[in-house]
Amino acid sequence: MINRSTIDKIMQAASIEEVVGDFVQLKRAGANFRGLSPFTAEKTPSFYVVPSKGIFKDFSSGKGGNAVAFLMEHEKISYPEALRWLAKRYNIEIEEDRNYDKEAEDAAKSLRESLFVVNEYAAKYFHEYLQSDAGSTIGLAYFKERGFSTKTMETFSLGFAPENRTEFTETALKNGYKKEFLTQLGLTVERDNGTFYDRFAGRVMFPIHNLSGRVIAFGGRVLKKDEKTAKYLNSPESELYHKSSVLYGLFQAKSSIVKSDVCYLVEGYTDVISLHQAGFTQAVASAGTSLTEEQARLIRRFTKNVTVLYDGDAAGIRASMRGIDILLQQGLDVRVLLLPDGEDPDSLAKKDPNRLETCLKEEVKDFISFKTDVLLVDAGQDPLKKAEVLKELARTIALIDDPMRRSVLHLETAKQMGADERIFLSEINKNRLEKAVPNREDRDLIPTPTDAFPTPTTPIVGVGDQKFPHELYLLRLLVHFPDALIDEYTLAQRAVMELEGYEFEDTQAASLFTHIASEVLAERPVTQELLVQIPDPSISSLVVDLLTQEWQISDNWAKSFEIEIKSPKENIAKDFESVMDRIKLKTILGWIKEIDEEIKAAEQNESELQEKLIAKKMFLEQIQEITRKYGTSIYR
Ligand code: ATP
Ligand code: MN
Repeated sequence: MINRSTIDKIMQAASIEEVVGDFVQLKRAGANFRGLSPFTAEKTPSFYVVPSKGIFKDFSSGKGGNAVAFLMEHEKISYPEALRWLAKRYNIEIEEDRNYDKEAEDAAKSLRESLFVVNEYAAKYFHEYLQSDAGSTIGLAYFKERGFSTKTMETFSLGFAPENRTEFTETALKNGYKKEFLTQLGLTVERDNGTFYDRFAGRVMFPIHNLSGRVIAFGGRVLKKDEKTAKYLNSPESELYHKSSVLYGLFQAKSSIVKSDVCYLVEGYTDVISLHQAGFTQAVASAGTSLTEEQARLIRRFTKNVTVLYDGDAAGIRASMRGIDILLQQGLDVRVLLLPDGEDPDSLAKKDPNRLETCLKEEVKDFISFKTDVLLVDAGQDPLKKAEVLKELARTIALIDDPMRRSVLHLETAKQMGADERIFLSEINKNRLEKAVPNREDRDLIPTPTDAFPTPTTPIVGVGDQKFPHELYLLRLLVHFPDALIDEYTLAQRAVMELEGYEFEDTQAASLFTHIASEVLAERPVTQELLVQIPDPSISSLVVDLLTQEWQISDNWAKSFEIEIKSPKENIAKDFESVMDRIKLKTILGWIKEIDEEIKAAEQNESELQEKLIAKKMFLEQIQEITRKYGTSIYR
C-alpha cells in the first residue's frame, strides 16, 4: 500500500489543469478552463476545470471530481494506479506501508493490469535485444540504415525480436509471465497441438502506446526483402488493443499537437517516426486500418486542425478520400499536403526537412478544394461526369456541421467548378436533409430549401464574367436608378456608405464602383449621363452594357425557384437590399476568416484574444441578423 504521507504529497503536487491538460485541450475561460468533453463526442465544449477548487466538471456526461478521479475515469485505472501515475508525473517517490501485502495486491490486480505488465515486459525485452550483440547486427543496423537516431529509438521504444521462433516466449515463461497472457496479447501463437511460436520473430518492433504511454500492442516489420510474409504484422485485437480507436504516435505527439494546434496525419509507423525525428512532432498515423470515427474524435480532443500528408503517387489518394470525410464529420478542419513526386513523408523528412517545412507552410490546401481539383481532372470536359463530381462534392460539404464554413465552401466550390451556386446549394441541402431526416416519407413533407442566401428577385443574365454576379447586379441597379431614393438617400449614396471597406472581386466592377464612390464623396449627384461619360473606355462600356441589356429573366430560373418576378422598377428597394445583404454577407465571411487567423495568433495574449473574440461575435451576429431575414439555417 502507498502510505498516507505519500498520498498527501501527491495530492498537493497534482494540479488539476496540468493533469487534465495532458489529455484534453483546455482553453482559459476566466479563472477556469474549458474544453471538449473527453467522455462524449460533443462539438461544443461543456467540460470545465476549476483550478481554485482542484476539480473538473463535465456537464455533458455529468462526471466530475479531482485529478485522481479524472485519471481513474479517463484511463480506466484503479485508485492506486492513478496515484502511481501522478507520482511519476510529479517525480514523487512512493513509500509503501511496511505491512504491505504484495500477494494481496497482485491478486487484486485486474486482468488488464496483468496484460499491461506483460506487454511492458515484452517491449523492454525487444528494446534491450535490439542493443544486444545478437540483435544489433541486424535490428539496430536496420534502424540505423533507416536513419533513426538513438534518441528516436528511445522515444518510440523501438525493438527487435529474436529470429529464433521460440526464444522470446521461452524467456518470458522462464521469468514467470503466464502463457495465457502472452497468447491473449498475440505475442505468442499457440498451435493446436500445444506447441507455440513467437508471432514477431525476426521483426523490428514498433510498440503502440495508449495516451498515458503504456504499451497496448505492437507492430513488427520483416527485414528480409524476399520474404513472402506481410511486410508489417500487428498485434491482434485484445483486451488492451482496439485498433479502431488508437492512433500511432499520439502519446508522443499530443502535447505538441495542442501547442501548435495542428495534427499531421500520415500512413504508418515509419512516417510518424521520421517526421518526429525531423522536428514535426505533431505526426500520428492510424496503424494498419483506414481512418475511423473514434480516431477522428481522438484527434478532435487535441486540435481542430488536421493536415493529411499524401504521397506524390496519386493511386492512394482517391481511395483514401472517403476516409477523410470522417474527419470532416467530426468537426475537424481538414487540409491536405500533396508531397512532391516520388516522396513520402518518411523520405522527405529525412532527405530535406526544410523543403517539407516550406511545403507545410505554403502548399497546404483545403481538403474540399483539393478534392475538387482531383475530381475535376478525372471528369475532364465530360458534362455528365462533372455533374457526378458536383454531387460527390455536395455530399462531402454536407458533412460539415458549421454553417459558416459550409457556406464559404459552397461559394468557393461552385466558383471553382464553374457551377450554379443555387443548384449546388440545393444539392448540399438535399444531403443534409437526408441526414437530418432519415425517413424518406417524413422528408417528402419538407420542401428542400433552394437558397440559403438572399437572392435578388430579378436574376441577371449574361453580363460580365459573373464570377460573383451580385456585384454586377448591384451596379446594374446603380446605373439604371442612381438617383432613386430610399429613405432620403439615393441608391448611389447608400451603396457607398454601406459598402465601406468592401472589395469588389470583379476588377471592372471595382473600377466602376470607385468612380461612383468618388462622385458621392465629392457630394456631386450621380447621374446616368455622368456614368456613360466616364473617360476610361472599359468602364464606360460596362455602363453601357448594363444599361442596354434587357432585364432578361430566365424562365427556368423563375420556374425552378418559384419566385414571383416583377419588373425591376417595382422592386428597386427590395432588390437593392437583398443584393447588398448578399455582398455584405460575403464580406463578413471574409472578415471572420481573417479574424480566426488573428485569434489563433493571439492565443497567448489574453486581452487581445478577448478583443478579437468580441469582434468575431459581432460579425457572427451581423450574419445572423442578415440570414434571419431570409429564414435560412434551417438545417444546421
Ligand atoms: P520501405 O522501406 O520498403 O519503404 P516501409 O517500412 O517504409 O518500407 P512502406 O511500404 O513504405 O513501409 O509503408 C508506408 C508507411 O506505412 C510506413 O510509414 C509504414 O511504416 C506504414 N505501414 C505499412 N503497413 C503498416 C501497418 N500494417 N500498420 C502500420 N503502419 C504500416
Ligand atoms: Mn517507405
